[in-house]
Amino acid sequence: MRAFSFTLTGIVMKTMFFAAILLSMFFAPLCAQNPVSEEVTADELREHVRYLASDALQGRRPGTPGGETAAEYIRDQFRTAGLRLLGDFGYQNFPIVTGIEAGKNSTLSAAGLDAALGKEFMPLSFSGQLSLDAPVRFAGYGFDYELDSSSWKDYDGIDVEGVWVLILRGSPDNASGDYDPFTSLLKKAMVARDHGAAGVIFVGGPAFDKNDRPVELHYQQQEAAMGIPVVSVTRGVAERLLGGITIADLEKELNKKKHPVRTDCTENLNASITLERQSVTGRNVVAIIDGNDEQLRDEYIIIGAHYDHLGMGGPGSGSRRPDTSAVHNGADDNASGTAAVLELGERIAKAGGLRRSVVFAAFTGEEMGLLGSKYFTSHSPVELSKVSLMCNLDMVGRFKDADNVINVGGTGTSAELEEMLRTAGEHIDMKLSMSPEGFGPSDHAAFYAEDVPVLFFFTGINEEYHTPLDDADLLNYDGEKRVVDLAYEVIAAAGNREEVLVFRESGPKSRPSGSRRFKVTLGIMPDVSSSGGKGLRADAVVEGRPADLAGMKKGDVIVAMEGKSVNGVYEYMNRLSEFKEGQRISVEVMRGEERLVLIVEL
Ligand SMILES: [Zn+2]
Repeated sequence: MRAFSFTLTGIVMKTMFFAAILLSMFFAPLCAQNPVSEEVTADELREHVRYLASDALQGRRPGTPGGETAAEYIRDQFRTAGLRLLGDFGYQNFPIVTGIEAGKNSTLSAAGLDAALGKEFMPLSFSGQLSLDAPVRFAGYGFDYELDSSSWKDYDGIDVEGVWVLILRGSPDNASGDYDPFTSLLKKAMVARDHGAAGVIFVGGPAFDKNDRPVELHYQQQEAAMGIPVVSVTRGVAERLLGGITIADLEKELNKKKHPVRTDCTENLNASITLERQSVTGRNVVAIIDGNDEQLRDEYIIIGAHYDHLGMGGPGSGSRRPDTSAVHNGADDNASGTAAVLELGERIAKAGGLRRSVVFAAFTGEEMGLLGSKYFTSHSPVELSKVSLMCNLDMVGRFKDADNVINVGGTGTSAELEEMLRTAGEHIDMKLSMSPEGFGPSDHAAFYAEDVPVLFFFTGINEEYHTPLDDADLLNYDGEKRVVDLAYEVIAAAGNREEVLVFRESGPKSRPSGSRRFKVTLGIMPDVSSSGGKGLRADAVVEGRPADLAGMKKGDVIVAMEGKSVNGVYEYMNRLSEFKEGQRISVEVMRGEERLVLIVEL
């Protein structure tokens, strides 16, 4: 399960999945009747989990030896069970960017003096890879905003077309939070670019950054490069550009006046920026059991679970103990679901398959943002419009006997799913807590966005979640066996019934924005997987929401809003935060080769 919390231009958006479950929870008591087949056993589940969550696999992070070993194990299990491997001998390989470094040949010289890379200057992670030799203009904090009570326009009266802009990091009063929407480096760089700047130089005043260090490079998933160079420098370097005044003086004056301050820059800046993105190969493991009915075998059921986890943890990994470097075993999250997929494969193979074909997918990169499942849906080995049901198992190992409740999400994504679940559960003595929404914090969300009916099995969050303590001996394997039996019954019913399950929209297709700053939304699911290229693709357009009403179509690439360019999800969110409810804005999209302007009422 992915912790749906990511820092967006200094704003932490948190979406608690439980709210969705609790909102729509109701219980359907089931009674025990016949004993179910014993083909899936608690012992077999335990064996898979013990192996996948062992220290030897080092937390199964994509691209690590432990991650590779896990993929091989899953592929071998699929093959042994008699499944037919799909993809490239059972793998779907794709690159995952894991880090970024400044190119060693990056240079910067101010007033003809070379600065030292890393010590005196550093490109920002979203910098364009370009060279620029140009004059410099000072633009204070780089603000350009107008609110009901105040405004601050650093660019009024200065022409920054085609030159570098020198901007202070932070804001006058860093504690109050009033300036928060305008202080992120990306935001400031976007404002500078909107005014025609050809490059941006950031420097921290002593009140903001007493250590006077360039900004450290951190790669963020989903971050796109800007078309202009963006660097940060030390005060010593910045002061070479100024005619004698210090950064400390400028910061002091700005903080006192809370108003633009002008000063002339006398020297040129020359910089040449390169960045190197490190990437690893992520692998989904995919296999199929062909349908045993001639008429129905071209239709599909997909059973999926992610097998990746957080590796050794550390900052940015998603670990809740980011300061501890230790194997994050990920027994519940999600060796449990992976074991379930393996056992379901074995059981369905032994039964001679279902009438429809059943695709098995072990996804990677889930913890980094549903990378594997999104890759799967955009490179699907089977036609997604022929998929009757995608069943996702993520964290199914901590069933609580005392509560005797299984959470199932996505139950509203086809009209018959709730009834099918109740029927399937008739043999199994547990209570169903159903939640209709198709969106959720795991891989099924990627399929729901593609109009595939989904079910999401989940036994609840626990204290060890995303810590090094999520271990195999804490799992309830008897409980998991019963969850897998329930999943099997539903899958068999969906795979054998005469009619296909028809998709039904059930809730938003993207995360609801959890921050009050995002007052408005377009009602699209942005493509968060691509970090290159121009614009931002709408992976889904939610019916009845502003973008849909304005005529936006799934697959449209948003390239500008209100005439200002948009590149990647971070820039998109930044632009959105500037608009108000009820406002009419122009949104330019590329639909294939065609450029269209849509008027969206927010
Ligand atoms: Zn997780």
